Amino acid sequence: MTLLTQLREIVGDNHVLTDIETAKYDHDWTGKYQATPIAVVRPASTQEVSDIVKICAAAKTAIVPVSGNTSLAGGTYGKDAVMISMERMNDIRDIRPDARIAIVGAGAVLSSIHDAADAHDLVFPLTFGAKGSAMIGGALSTNAGGSNVVRYGSTRGLCLGLEVVLPDGQIMNLMSELHKDNSGYDLKNLMIGAEGTLGLITSAVLKLFPKPRAYATAMVAVPAFSDALRLLNDLQAATGGLVEAFEYMDALYVADHLTMFPKARAPFEDKHDINIMVEVGATAPNLTDLQPDGTIPLVTLLEDTLGQMMEDGRIVDAVVAQNDAQRREMWERREAAGEVMLLRKTMINNDICVPVDKVDDFFERIDARLAELDPKALHSSVSHLGDGNIHFLLFPTKDDAQHIDVLTEAVEDVVLSLGGSFSAEHGIGLTKKPSMARRKDKVALAIMRSVKAAIDPDNIMNPGKVLPQTN
Ligand SMILES: Cc1cc2nc3c(=O)[nH]c(=O)nc-3n(C[C@H](O)[C@H](O)[C@H](O)COP(=O)(O)OP(=O)(O)OC[C@H]3O[C@@H](n4cnc5c(N)ncnc54)[C@H](O)[C@@H]3O)c2cc1C
Repeated sequence: MTLLTQLREIVGDNHVLTDIETAKYDHDWTGKYQATPIAVVRPASTQEVSDIVKICAAAKTAIVPVSGNTSLAGGTYGKDAVMISMERMNDIRDIRPDARIAIVGAGAVLSSIHDAADAHDLVFPLTFGAKGSAMIGGALSTNAGGSNVVRYGSTRGLCLGLEVVLPDGQIMNLMSELHKDNSGYDLKNLMIGAEGTLGLITSAVLKLFPKPRAYATAMVAVPAFSDALRLLNDLQAATGGLVEAFEYMDALYVADHLTMFPKARAPFEDKHDINIMVEVGATAPNLTDLQPDGTIPLVTLLEDTLGQMMEDGRIVDAVVAQNDAQRREMWERREAAGEVMLLRKTMINNDICVPVDKVDDFFERIDARLAELDPKALHSSVSHLGDGNIHFLLFPTKDDAQHIDVLTEAVEDVVLSLGGSFSAEHGIGLTKKPSMARRKDKVALAIMRSVKAAIDPDNIMNPGKVLPQTN
């Protein structure tokens, strides 16, 4: 029997797609990577995934897992591979409000997990612009971050248990509901962030949190990033760590956003270089109960903190959302970043992280390097500033591969000189492999290769991703 016949026997004819039927899956979100796979297979159960993997393993055929296909690193490029789409394994199997856990299939879309948690007055806090398409298996595989990491941590910190189909088809059951489990090596956290190179995640146990009863949200303009950090630290101290989001947008991003969405409003009447969206969320009645004068203490607390900093000259402008529509407007501006970044061509998409008190240094040093290398290059940044994670988009004046490499290396030099990372939350995929080869600790790379060889000796799981070739 041919490979396709065997696959059809497992999932049925309708769920083995070939040629033109694979069009939805054959390119990534950015449009940079495109390849028609051998087939896209859509299993409905872990057993089916295991059977598919066994057949591909026997034929030594590459497997590329695909979920929402919103990877920004080329992680789902599927040339000469069988793509396994997790979209049918989207069940929200159980929500246990008292234990604050959700048990879900890997194909559950983030926004559907949000809705399911919300029905129990709980939140699953992982959120970012692609939440309507990205699936939890994809988010786990990239250890996605997003806008609420400052309070709740990255995806790795939000997952208690996993089920994984290994490259030989074995099903590994790590579906722990435990907050403590020291029984040997931490294989769950090895699989999280592995970008599908070590196995296929099929189910997960996720942590849920109480839903804030009130939010206070503001746009704030500050003179320097050190002032932004002071704002973050003051708010954390005043609220006991209730800052949910602390996001930065520069003046070019604000302008590009208005170009793309002409009906949107500017955040302030005046233009500012450092625009921060800050959100605090609380559950306790003393912060969230509506007062007789119509105020909410959490909002008053935010206004007082901003007012004090304004008096000290550490804030130049501030607008506090007065209702949910204004809050949503602030979030929409932030979450449009993925689309807005495509407005300008020839872009170097840096997803970097530096220590939170080194952000001023990063911009000073990179501006000095750019003045030497490409003085007319533009850059635009949108950042999860509370984590030191900067999406530093660079628009060089020349669309030339060698020039782009030089600028990319300059960014890496600056980031590493500050103790930072060239990959914060989007993963390595194909895009960041050169940086991985240049910058990752050589001992760490060798250990990663040994782990890959031990788990996937025939190199069939998402081959060519994450790990650079040895020389
Ligand atoms: C508009 C936009 C905004 C974004 N904002 C953020 C952000 O703020 N923070 C952030 O961290 N990321 C962000 N991202 C990128 C983010 O990494 C992805 O959106 C998401 O994590 C990937 O989920 P997905 O379901 O689309 O996975 P896919 O793109 O389908 O896959 C991602 C990787 O995981 C592998 N994979 C997929 N499913 C599985 C599985 N079940 N088992 C094993 N491997 C699997 C794939 O092979 C691939 O290597 C953004 C993307 C877009 C388009």
